[in-house]
Amino acid sequence: MNAYIEKVVEEVKKRNPGEPEFIQTVEEVLYSLEPAIEKHPEYEATGLLERLVEPERQVAFRVTWVDDKGKVQVNRGFRVQYSSAIGPYKGGLRFHHTVYSGIMKFLGFEQTFKDSLTGLPIGGGKGGSDFDPVGKSDAEVMRFCQAFMTELYRHIGPDVDVPAGDLGVGGREIGYLFGQYKRIKGAYENGVLTGKGISFGGSLGRVDATGYGAVYFAQEVFRHFGEEVKGKTFALSGFGNVCWGTVCKIDELGGKVVTISGPDGYIYDPDGITGEKIDFMLEMRASGRDKVQDYADKYGVKFFPKQKPWNEKVDVCMPCATQNEVTMVEAEQMVANGVKYYVEVSNMPTTNDALTYLQKSGVVVAPSKAVNAGGVAVSALEMSQNSMRYSWSAEEVDEKLKNIMVNIHNNSRDAAEEVGLGYNLVAGANLSAFKKVADAMMAQGLV
Ligand code: GLU
Repeated sequence: MNAYIEKVVEEVKKRNPGEPEFIQTVEEVLYSLEPAIEKHPEYEATGLLERLVEPERQVAFRVTWVDDKGKVQVNRGFRVQYSSAIGPYKGGLRFHHTVYSGIMKFLGFEQTFKDSLTGLPIGGGKGGSDFDPVGKSDAEVMRFCQAFMTELYRHIGPDVDVPAGDLGVGGREIGYLFGQYKRIKGAYENGVLTGKGISFGGSLGRVDATGYGAVYFAQEVFRHFGEEVKGKTFALSGFGNVCWGTVCKIDELGGKVVTISGPDGYIYDPDGITGEKIDFMLEMRASGRDKVQDYADKYGVKFFPKQKPWNEKVDVCMPCATQNEVTMVEAEQMVANGVKYYVEVSNMPTTNDALTYLQKSGVVVAPSKAVNAGGVAVSALEMSQNSMRYSWSAEEVDEKLKNIMVNIHNNSRDAAEEVGLGYNLVAGANLSAFKKVADAMMAQGLV
């Protein structure tokens, strides 16, 4: 292994104690950059990797709000402005009880590469709070969002940093956040947030973009092997917005999704999740109960409490839940079951050892930062429409999304092939994303 990369990884381990997710993503990305680092000695001379593993700015703040019982609640808010090398910071806000600085930094680092892959001028950022929306009333969510924005507004702006949704943050939360931003600023800067409602500057196609984009990407992978979505069986995890969009598109293209999951376990539907059952996913999410057992109860299919869906015999596995849900145990199950394609949809769903094992075992792996980039890509299209004070039709947005996903696939494929790695999308996505960020950093001098 390249000595410069080793040195930077060791330094990252020392400087970020207690942040294993961040160290994990840095290792995964940096180890795959060896060909680029060897070709460009000027990167070491200008400390490029040392700069890249340090966020440009991190803000942590107190969020004080009052619950429905009149009790004062205090949460922690974060915004990590990771890299502005190629555009204003761009990335979602996550409201989840697991949020802390290490999760924010891992997501900000991933986002920097993902945003670069889109080919659009957006830098990388991420934010959120340890606020847990499960079981909160609508009024509580509104008061929390208002309190959160009362601090966040001073750090963001349409040309500075543009947050969006992520786990626990959907259209409702973005609406409340935008309302408070507008009230404080006294100006209609709707390019400050993406994922807005269609009536106030949102883009058509944003809600389904991540899921649709993931399937467009998977289509390119299948095409590489002369195959298609039609006729394939899919195991998915999660049941939120991203999972829903993925199920919709797979169903439309003639594939069959047999599993979805929640924190309570997973369901197996041998007839496939299709028709009104897909709409029921939306109802389950809107209920705020965070339970997929409701699906099993309604449709009389099998429910596996507290289990993950990765031990089913399917053609394709697509994790759509949260980080590190596929470890060596699940990877071994997939290989034993003859799974041919592993398409990561959620951010970093796989531990590094499991990722390597799947690839070595001949499973075709598509990495999340490429596969799920459709969400942030359509966010960037929303920013363009806001700047133009114009809106594109759903067909125009979908066409652009498709092109972006095909380009991400082809650029990742080519980047790996150029350095003799064959069809390795994991390394290819990292190399392709890194090239653009590194070029911009070199051109802009030491910052
Ligand atoms: N949270 C999404 C992601 O992980 C979307 C970010 C955005 O639209 O800015 O990419």
